[in-house]
Amino acid sequence: MKNRAAFLDRDGTIIDLVHHLTDPGDVRLIDGAGAAIRRLRAAGWKVIVITNQSVIGRGKLTEDGLAKVHAVMDAQLAEHETQTDGLYFCPLAPTQKDQRVIEDAMRKPGPGMLLQAARDHDIDLSRSWMVGDSLSDVLAGRNAGCKSLVVRTGYGDKVTTDFDAEAPTLAEAANIILNEGKSS
Ligand SMILES: [Mg+2]
Repeated sequence: MKNRAAFLDRDGTIIDLVHHLTDPGDVRLIDGAGAAIRRLRAAGWKVIVITNQSVIGRGKLTEDGLAKVHAVMDAQLAEHETQTDGLYFCPLAPTQKDQRVIEDAMRKPGPGMLLQAARDHDIDLSRSWMVGDSLSDVLAGRNAGCKSLVVRTGYGDKVTTDFDAEAPTLAEAANIILNEGKSS
């Protein structure tokens, strides 16, 4: 049987929202996020980060700098005795602000990063979830054939459409995914 995945947005979903985060010192896990990822993985779910990082396309951060940010996130997850199974980022800067518009398949709301992860990790997208705090996240999930869940951390209060479930934080999102997963 193919794997199931919980695809997770990074900013405002796993870590505190910091606009155009570039400083590794600004990385802070949202309460319960580490335990949520640990529980998902313990139940057999692949946990894969799917993140738009326009800071690279805007010239505010290099790929090496982004790797330093992710090293801090990984170290904080390790304190919760967990890790992620993969991380995909899109470096492109948008040219407009409508989160419904797919400017490039690899930038959310395009499905490209999820499709690539599905190939790399043998994932059944129809039995997987995309979790995020932005319209572009839930749309990327739907565009990839996944179910979508909005969390109300970060920008999440602004999302009113295009999701299948909602949760206050990633901790409760994990409960929904784990419960639903028992029956499918
Ligand atoms: Mg976000």
